[in-house]
Amino acid sequence: MPGYELVGAAELAEIQDIFNNGGVLFRHGFDQQRNGRYKVRQFEEAFAQKMNVNEALAVSSGTAALRVILAALGIQSGDKVITQAFTFVATVEAIVESGAQPVGCDVDLTLNMDPLSLEKLIDERTKAVIVVHMLGTPAKLEQISEICKRKNIYLVEDTAWGLGGMLHGQKLGTWGDAAAFSFDYAKTITTGEGGMVTFKNPEFMHRAQAWHDHGHENNPQVPRWEDTRSASGFNFRMSELQGAIGLVQLTKLDFIIEKQREIFRKVWAGLSHLKGVELRESEPGAFETYDAIVFFVEGPEIALNCRRLLLQIGVSTKILPEAYTWHFMGCWDHIASLASQDKVPLNERFLPSEKILRRAVSIPVFLNMDSSLPERICNAICSAVKS
Ligand SMILES: *Cc1c(COP(=O)(O)O)cnc(C)c1O
Repeated sequence: MPGYELVGAAELAEIQDIFNNGGVLFRHGFDQQRNGRYKVRQFEEAFAQKMNVNEALAVSSGTAALRVILAALGIQSGDKVITQAFTFVATVEAIVESGAQPVGCDVDLTLNMDPLSLEKLIDERTKAVIVVHMLGTPAKLEQISEICKRKNIYLVEDTAWGLGGMLHGQKLGTWGDAAAFSFDYAKTITTGEGGMVTFKNPEFMHRAQAWHDHGHENNPQVPRWEDTRSASGFNFRMSELQGAIGLVQLTKLDFIIEKQREIFRKVWAGLSHLKGVELRESEPGAFETYDAIVFFVEGPEIALNCRRLLLQIGVSTKILPEAYTWHFMGCWDHIASLASQDKVPLNERFLPSEKILRRAVSIPVFLNMDSSLPERICNAICSAVKS
């Protein structure tokens, strides 16, 4: 949850450093004026190092990150891209903007993509799968990457919620052909708005770098306005202000994850013995970030009851159950290419997912949680499942 909880003096100092050195807010050029300050570039380098990859590309949002990836992979009109029925609406928006048709896949008790459902949906038009690590729990990456390899389709990880997580010791965002990260204000680390893109294949990275910058190839031997272009693009650049904040926030990532995991253990210790309360499933070998604590109760009424009683003690749920409609594809009648692709009404297409989601509760994990809170949360949930 907490990137924004930890925005403070260190971030401000990094921004001050820009203003002490020419105040250049653009990632390119102005080489004389900026006195060696390239915050976005430095943030990309630090991020790549953290993820153990060669290169990373900073962009203006997580949604932009997904859009840039699809452009670099050459996804276009006529193609299909499969993603899961439980995600943030942005995943589907990026697919729609690419011109491809979004296809929804059910989730299982991990609340992530069900590989069995995925396998059935793939056809000759399917070009990519976007798997999402919802609320900090790794998707079934081994099974899903096996399917994608066998079917010869790209695997993209929407790691907006998975930064800092791992599966079998391998970082989320390094399993697929590409990964998108988000630094919006509610994500694990934040730049206010912002995102990052990584690829396995450097050729896709080069295309992404140009595409996110109007097609600029930024040839190092000539000034920016004399550089070349080979394809059209768009503008999804990150500014130096965001880069400066990202640089500092990245140094806090390990601390945040460790702290979230500690808070999870405290809260769950009080909940685990409750009858009718079950933790969301996770893969063996999963290292979860516990951005939120997600569990199942016996039915939708009890889930709503949990929310009501938590609100009474000043604790909100996160997404489940209250923001369900923004995160469940069955509700997205406003997205024409999704709604109109099948005779079955959208709200009847993902019944297995809906059944699971309706009895799920998700409690946000705050770093600055006062010490009496775990007990008060436990008491509220205890009353909710008993009443
Ligand atoms: C937050 C989020 C996004 C979009 O990121 P923004 O930076 O807000 O554009 C995409 N996918 C998922 C799963 C998200 O949670």
